[in-house]
Amino acid sequence: MTSAPLLPGASATDVLNKVFGYPDFRGQQRDIIEHVVGGGDALVLMPTGGGKSLCYQIPALVRPGTGVVISPLIALMQDQVDALRTLGVRAGFLNSSQDYEERRIVEAEFVNGDLDLLYVAPEGLGVAATQRLLDRGKISLFAIDEAHCVSQWGHDFRPDYLGLSMLHERWPDVPRIALTATATSATRTEIATRLRLTDARHFTASFDRPNIQYRIAPKNEPRRQLLDLLRTEHPGDSGIVYCLSRAGVEKAAEFLSQNGVPALPYHAGLDNRVRAANQSRFLREDGLVMVATIAFGMGIDKPDVRFVAHLDLPKSVEGYYQETGRAGRDGLPSTAWLAYGLQDVVQQRKMIDSSDGDAAFRRNASQHLDAMLALCETVSCRRGQLLAYFGETPEGANCGNCDTCLNPPESWDGTVPAQKLLSTVLRLQRERGQKFGAGQSIDILLGKQTDKVTQFRHDQLSVFGIGTELRDQEWRGVVRQLLAAGYLAVEGDYGTLVLTGTSSQVLRGEVKVMMRREPPPKARTPRSRSA
Ligand code: ADP
Ligand code: ZN
Repeated sequence: MTSAPLLPGASATDVLNKVFGYPDFRGQQRDIIEHVVGGGDALVLMPTGGGKSLCYQIPALVRPGTGVVISPLIALMQDQVDALRTLGVRAGFLNSSQDYEERRIVEAEFVNGDLDLLYVAPEGLGVAATQRLLDRGKISLFAIDEAHCVSQWGHDFRPDYLGLSMLHERWPDVPRIALTATATSATRTEIATRLRLTDARHFTASFDRPNIQYRIAPKNEPRRQLLDLLRTEHPGDSGIVYCLSRAGVEKAAEFLSQNGVPALPYHAGLDNRVRAANQSRFLREDGLVMVATIAFGMGIDKPDVRFVAHLDLPKSVEGYYQETGRAGRDGLPSTAWLAYGLQDVVQQRKMIDSSDGDAAFRRNASQHLDAMLALCETVSCRRGQLLAYFGETPEGANCGNCDTCLNPPESWDGTVPAQKLLSTVLRLQRERGQKFGAGQSIDILLGKQTDKVTQFRHDQLSVFGIGTELRDQEWRGVVRQLLAAGYLAVEGDYGTLVLTGTSSQVLRGEVKVMMRREPPPKARTPRSRSA
């Protein structure tokens, strides 16, 4: 392998043009690169596909020494390094997948100054031997990729990231650049504190992904709804379908395959080799659908993913944004579709209640879930709500490319139905000392003489049959929206409904409860592929 630097003394623009073959910088790349080349620390927030890699790769090529890149994506290091080498960049990696000999070669290259970029896993940096190794070479910069992994409240927390605060203590003169595609302003502050990036300049790109059409639909028969979507709008397209559980993944992959959509499963329960094979088929072949748990996707760079579908509710808006962000990296029209139902809320609450985490953890998980529910139940622009969540002020009230903008839901005064539902829950609790799930309360309101109604003599309650103005589905919508607004809560294994501290405001008529009425679905035509 060659050990001569590619372009000695070259400027950032030279490297961009001659090594990477791109005519111009994108967005804030130039500012970020100049700042880091000049020795400054940086915290970079850029959506997926925004071009974060060049922000540290180019400074590493311009500054003397080796750029050390800390990345949790061990499985992708080989690919990243191979891609750089084909461009003539002297890149290598150190991680637990290597044997002694491979490691020794890379270490020697680093010490001899023959590497422009060295990728290491975060756990590796905590090892004294690795630290001593780094002392023996010249480091041009540290790049901390997927920096949100340092956030203990985030969904990608990696304990090893906490140790990265030592970089600054041990190598105070080496500039550091931390990068992430997901962070609210709270996470941003947390990253800066935990990584001791107190003097870092913050570069924040807009999180808008205008080519992604956001859609959230009420869940009836999710797999069937998904199939309809794929047949009408995405025939032959590549896409990702997220499910919460391994069983859900297996079922959905099988259902799609049986119905003529080529689909592969991906989850942590599969054999490593099967998983790797499915991942590499998805990356290389056209028109495959990857049905996966959220274990799939971080760092996956497939530009033509035309849709990301969620068959279960994500745990947080951050997760939703990050997962949907894997669609349309090439900038072409893409769909983010989510099916969401009452059962999702029940299930997620149950997971939070039964988790091992402490009270603070649960409170945090609940807040994340609440924000996600609010996004699902909004009557305003989804994109606007999403951007506002990340602290951005969207331009204009309507984006024109989300379901609420394209097919606006009606907003209606649901105060009376809300009162009826809450008083049913209240009566069951007060008069009978009983707690039930949403189904039973709805049956009572609709006046249904089911076995369970008869058994518990719920037909004797004064609220029996007072809710026939709405259909079962609409009542479910009422329950969901009361949950989202915090006027009602679910608890326990059976998802029983309970009142909250604010329920009485609704019952006493002190607040008006505005609700979302789902618009009838519009006939959709397959999207033109030449867009
Ligand atoms: P991120 O890490 O932010 O998700 P990448 O660094 O993988 O994004 O970049 C996304 C894609 O955009 C890559 O294919 C990359 O080569 C391309 N890209 C990045 N910067 C530029 C640029 N200045 N001009 C053209 N293409 C670029
Ligand atoms: Zn919109």
